[in-house]
Amino acid sequence: MGSLICDVRDQKFVLYEILKIEDLFKTQRFGAYSRDMCDMVQDGAKKIAEEVIFPSLAEGDREGCRLENGSVHVPKCFHRNYALFREGGWTTISTSPEAGGQGFPLVIGMMSEEWFMHNFGLVGYAYLTTGAAHLIEAYGAESQKKKYMEKMYKGLWGGNMCLTEPGAGTDLGSIRTKAVRQPDGTYLLQGAKQFISGGDQDLTENIVSPVLARIEGDPPGTAGISIFLVPKYIVNDDGSLGRRNDYTIGGIEHKLGLHGSATCQMNFGDNGECYAEILGEERQGIKVMFQLMNEARVDVAVESLASASIAYLHAVAYAKERLQGSALEDMKNPRAPRVPIIRHPDVRRMLIWMKAHVEGIRALAYYTAWCIDVIHSTDDNARKDTCRAIMEVLTPICKAFSSDVAFRVTETAIQVHGGYGCCSEYPVEQFLRDVKMTSIYEGTNGVQALDLVGRKLSLKKGLYFMILLEEIQKTVQGCRGVTGIKDMAEDVQDAANNLAEVGLFFAS
Ligand SMILES: Cc1cc2nc3c(=O)[nH]c(=O)nc-3n(C[C@H](O)[C@H](O)[C@H](O)COP(=O)(O)OP(=O)(O)OC[C@H]3O[C@@H](n4cnc5c(N)ncnc54)[C@H](O)[C@@H]3O)c2cc1C
Repeated sequence: MGSLICDVRDQKFVLYEILKIEDLFKTQRFGAYSRDMCDMVQDGAKKIAEEVIFPSLAEGDREGCRLENGSVHVPKCFHRNYALFREGGWTTISTSPEAGGQGFPLVIGMMSEEWFMHNFGLVGYAYLTTGAAHLIEAYGAESQKKKYMEKMYKGLWGGNMCLTEPGAGTDLGSIRTKAVRQPDGTYLLQGAKQFISGGDQDLTENIVSPVLARIEGDPPGTAGISIFLVPKYIVNDDGSLGRRNDYTIGGIEHKLGLHGSATCQMNFGDNGECYAEILGEERQGIKVMFQLMNEARVDVAVESLASASIAYLHAVAYAKERLQGSALEDMKNPRAPRVPIIRHPDVRRMLIWMKAHVEGIRALAYYTAWCIDVIHSTDDNARKDTCRAIMEVLTPICKAFSSDVAFRVTETAIQVHGGYGCCSEYPVEQFLRDVKMTSIYEGTNGVQALDLVGRKLSLKKGLYFMILLEEIQKTVQGCRGVTGIKDMAEDVQDAANNLAEVGLFFAS
């Protein structure tokens, strides 16, 4: 039997037959990599996903996180599994070798994430840390890189992302957390953050939180926001851990799903002693945060894909086992053998719909990640520009479409299971609860729509959007003469024409 988490062959199909990623290995940047090496990543990811990541999904959900004496405790089974995941280097597959990562193309990192992200409650601690370390790698001073980055990439210290406040969710310009400059160049922070994934946990000995705040006297709105690094334990010059920083965990949210992921309220500077270091330049906080948003949003698409993929495969397996009713042709014969429900046309309809959407969002997410790889590896400037344009326009679509579709796929998986699908003995109800959050964080899907229409469609006076349409046009042309897909090519052409009309409407 194939895996119940991801379809190995379908992943390979997108990587090698659609995207032809072996061409990436001809570039200088990825010249040291090969298909064999990528296949080894896939085999290893499958193994640890099946033996470690998936088995702790239900237990993590049942046990959830606890706040005791001001400290967050994650589910017990996460400790061993986090250590195995961390030691395997799974969160740094595409991180640069200079920073201690393995340097594979991003699309290979994404492929491995597809194996793990169904259990974001567990692996989220590690991936959020890598995201925070990326920020330090891109914008940190040498001293900050030395102090924090290596330990974070190794997963020995944790990281997170502190943007949201009680009065500032989508509207980040309203944040009130305040930073006060100190004579030694550091800052003191005061304020409250909410909904912070991994704001605290007991998996790592230290946690480094990038926090958005406004320096006293800086202008209102997003233009006045800076970003700071706030360690849980202040790091001494020799690398040892010093005093506990002045912030507390006010509570953890009791959510619909992702029970293993601690969603924290954080109070900074109740005693006026919350130490913080600026990351990058003052008042550049939003710019710093948003430069990495593209990859973070594609990451959420992969998280959605992971839940959709596992839900679909569980639904297929269940439909092959569950006997109910007779075959359509034997409907009137009460003695006819009971058949697996996969024989019923309505069940097949649901499964085919799920399969089509899972494969669609996989292609979309991998394609967007591959565009980022081409941008980073090609010497051909025209190609780089084309890929940048496509990546920019597709990113909000990738995040919003994948998370909306994934929710519907998990819901359909419950439908395929009938009443059992609603019960906690089967994992599909948890897939649905967990995946719902993906349409909310990293910018709600409504915000992705605003980004697409308000910003991306008009980027470079509409040129980026036109480049995407041209690429679609080329694909349609290439398929017009091909038996079996001619009709589909015409459907895509019609959809592209509608898309162009909508684009023109918003541009005018
Ligand atoms: C499980 C979970 C984990 C999270 N982890 C983190 C984290 O690690 N770090 C962090 O900083 N935050 C985190 N968040 C917070 C998340 O980013 C916010 O919930 C999100 O940005 C939305 O903010 P909000 O909840 O205040 O909703 P609101 O901003 O109040 O939005 C409510 C609704 O109004 C819509 N809306 C709001 N403004 C507009 C507008 N201008 N135009 C059109 N529609 C609008 C939204 O799309 C949404 O549908 C997390 C949230 C959840 C649920």
